Amino acid sequence: MNIYDAFSKIVIENKEDTALVHNGNSISYKELDESCSIYSQLLLSNGVKSRDCVAIYLENSPEFLYAYLGLLKIGATAVPINPVLTETELQYVLQNCNAKALFIGEKQKEKLENLKDTFSPFPRLLIVENIKILNFEKETLLLNNTSDGEANDIAVIIYTSGTTGKPKGAMLTHENLYSNAMSFTQVSQTTKQDRIVAVLPMFHLFCLTVSVNLSLLNGAKLLIQSPFNPTELVQLIRDEKVTLLAAVPTIYNYLYHLEHVTSKDFSTVRTFISGGSSMSVDLLKNIQAKYGVTILEGYGLTETAPVISFNPYKGTCKPGSVGLDIPNVKTKIVDEVGNELAALEVGEVIVSGPNVMKGYLNNKIETDKAIKNGWFYTGDIGRKDEDGYLFLLDRKKDVILMNGYSVYPREIEEVLYAHPNIIEAAVIGIKNERTGEAVKAFIVLNDSNVTEEEIFTYCKKHLAKYKQPSEIQFLEEIPKNSTGKIMKRLLEK
Ligand code: AMP
Repeated sequence: MNIYDAFSKIVIENKEDTALVHNGNSISYKELDESCSIYSQLLLSNGVKSRDCVAIYLENSPEFLYAYLGLLKIGATAVPINPVLTETELQYVLQNCNAKALFIGEKQKEKLENLKDTFSPFPRLLIVENIKILNFEKETLLLNNTSDGEANDIAVIIYTSGTTGKPKGAMLTHENLYSNAMSFTQVSQTTKQDRIVAVLPMFHLFCLTVSVNLSLLNGAKLLIQSPFNPTELVQLIRDEKVTLLAAVPTIYNYLYHLEHVTSKDFSTVRTFISGGSSMSVDLLKNIQAKYGVTILEGYGLTETAPVISFNPYKGTCKPGSVGLDIPNVKTKIVDEVGNELAALEVGEVIVSGPNVMKGYLNNKIETDKAIKNGWFYTGDIGRKDEDGYLFLLDRKKDVILMNGYSVYPREIEEVLYAHPNIIEAAVIGIKNERTGEAVKAFIVLNDSNVTEEEIFTYCKKHLAKYKQPSEIQFLEEIPKNSTGKIMKRLLEK
């Protein structure tokens, strides 16, 4: 199903209902559709055709959605860009997808001044401010209008940063996005009565599918918060009677530590949805105890549009697990050579289903490495219990090899999070002459009187010897990216 066609049906059925709320302004489904049409007309009249790629470099805003849906309406491909990309990365992305144009906010325009000189021909700029596209910048040139034949049904291309090499453009078809939004609708029991917050950046698929598409393809109300501010988020949840919040553990950690916030503020919330990185069982239980709202954890990747598994809304939720395969999606745990493992055995998670991307744009080598015989290799290590619930351990490359033992940072982080004075923790492997690798823990404390010695003693009590950190470093904050994922590669080894 084409996303725009699905959206159009919803518009017909819900014309006067509120589709979006942003900065206190409500926009109905009819108005949203009209603005998308204005954007698509402008794109067409400026030479953008179906199958062309157009980048979106906008903060969370109604304009982001006009651009996204406006592009889908004319059969073009939206390439949402992470605003924190460096100029070189941005340049790479624009060239790699042969972008015909770039949507950018008036305020961010300055960021591109340098790039304009170094990168010629530059794709057309669509300057966006307060709903209107102000102008197409005249002096810039259009790139050659060669359409990539392969891209015919690609709705969105999202560049994943990856830890090595250049960013890779995951090509997601309309079917990938639509099927994932519908499967997630089922497991979360979303209806048009829901009021859903978009607080994560929309350029990330977690927000695009689990907030934006989930809401707009069900006729629900989408509340846009940007930029993220914990106190304002609570206010929005209370004032707008929010029913669903999809966020990353970092955001839940902020919410948990807010003073003067009580379960009353969240009385309308059906459930909190967590994903993107591992939610500590302690934090999950603390939030439930403090606010009386269940957190359901799920798991996904950009390449799988994104959701793979989820703890069902009405059903058994297992804390620490990322849940069961969602409808139409199938996972297996496999060994090094791709053989399926039994329940409780640890191996790589592989996935098949209508949500698996078409491939990486112009990158057959990486595509063939990632998708084999219709199965996408996630690079995540996990196991399933006898009921089919998936438990993730770590990224394959993050597993620490200590004296021949595999040490999973996640397990040590769980123990650290259970310490009453530890607010955040991240564990990495460091080189060690004797054991190959050793464990190092980075810790953020809520009490500066706690000493390294105390943490070492605590770890001795709770962890087998080979898992205990050999080094501890206290930090003010653990580096995270804009979607709240801990950037382990920025932690000094
Ligand atoms: P991205 O493509 O940016 O969405 O990143 C996908 C990666 O995030 C996955 O391969 C996992 O390593 C990680 N991830 C997503 N959800 C979870 C989760 N619930 N627990 C642990 N890791 C997760």
